[in-house]
Amino acid sequence: MPKITAIESFDVRFPTSKMLDGSDAMNQDPDYSAAYLRITTDQPGLHGDSLVFTIGRGNDVQIAAINMLTPKIAGLSVDDAFTRIGEITRELSGDSQIRWLGPDYGVFHMAAGAVLNALWDLFAKAKGVPLWKLLSDMTPEQIVDAIDFRYITDALTREEALDILYRGNDAKKSNEEILRSKGLPAYTTSPGWLGYSDEKMLDLTKKAMDDGFTLIKYKCGKSIADDQRRLGKVRELVGPNFPIAIDANQVWDVDVAITWINALKEYKLRWVEEPTSPNDVLGHAKIAAAVAPTPIATGEMASSRIIFKQLLQAKGFSVMQIDATRVAGVNENLANILMAAKFGIPVCPHAGGVGLCEMVQHLAMWDAVAVTGHHTSRVVEFVDHLHQHFLDPVQISGGNYIAPQRAGAGAEMHQSSIDEYSFPNGTYWKNEAVS
Ligand SMILES: [Mg+2]
Repeated sequence: MPKITAIESFDVRFPTSKMLDGSDAMNQDPDYSAAYLRITTDQPGLHGDSLVFTIGRGNDVQIAAINMLTPKIAGLSVDDAFTRIGEITRELSGDSQIRWLGPDYGVFHMAAGAVLNALWDLFAKAKGVPLWKLLSDMTPEQIVDAIDFRYITDALTREEALDILYRGNDAKKSNEEILRSKGLPAYTTSPGWLGYSDEKMLDLTKKAMDDGFTLIKYKCGKSIADDQRRLGKVRELVGPNFPIAIDANQVWDVDVAITWINALKEYKLRWVEEPTSPNDVLGHAKIAAAVAPTPIATGEMASSRIIFKQLLQAKGFSVMQIDATRVAGVNENLANILMAAKFGIPVCPHAGGVGLCEMVQHLAMWDAVAVTGHHTSRVVEFVDHLHQHFLDPVQISGGNYIAPQRAGAGAEMHQSSIDEYSFPNGTYWKNEAVS
């Protein structure tokens, strides 16, 4: 029975700000980064890897937080950790001195997520299966045992979660066959960064359509006139019916959002993403009501299952965008996906960044196999950046995510990439310092 022997962390930063990749109305110069950790065991070659995505300097505090939490799992056997994963999630978020800095959101919550996600990577590797398959083969009882239902039972009880999972049980086999043969529909944000020229945006849009994507998303929010110009050019290129969405990355106050979104109605948007502060549940509800039928989407920075619960209860959105590293790991996202299922809201995961596509696809695939099945309202974000640094980079074919076969949860990076981009002593950053 392998045992956890050590946990190492790495500060990995990619110089993406130089290319304006990832630029949007809120984040003008991101250096896509990973606060990366590795749980090693006494079984040679068996380790669990994961990361928290940040956009640069935040790595300093994120790694400090991860390093404060990892002693809680030192010395555990892998089997015990798997059996006790529900307790472990509560222990990671329940340390009373650390909890003061949350609770259940922010740097320590994300650090808990990193530890949990690395444990899930370890479990999947120990069992020799990809994470989506591990989750899909777990019993409904095992899944609900992994969830911390504290603060969400007014929206979803353990019994209701079990009901949802038992209802999905019979279709699991056929859903898995569909997943293995067709994959899951992806959408792309790659053409739409705010720093790109109109020409680059349109060239990349045409390429995305040729590649088979059936939804394309654009950053917005510089000015209404700028958005009208860009969306007008896109609509002209893609035609009247091709689905397009926009993403404001939180730049608007509530009433500004309502005016702005209503000024873009003619472009028939599939959704408007992150119109305002991710914590403003009532603001989202006000916007959603005032701009209907244009759908509102959010969630990539929703800090916990509690915010998602309120967004569902208040009708603050009609598309839930979970993120693999924003909340407390796989465990909390199981809760988020089950809550969305109960409220009948599709989960269209957020991805991009560093490794987020590699990680979140597993959760969407579990949703498709074991929870809500295959349907047209789920699309998973895809951004074509930085995949080359991962051992098991996402495979996209004909606009679909292809189900990964390799054991694990997807976040393991090549050691050579870690060595090159470790900050500040990796080879890239050392050279940068002297140039
Ligand atoms: Mg977004």
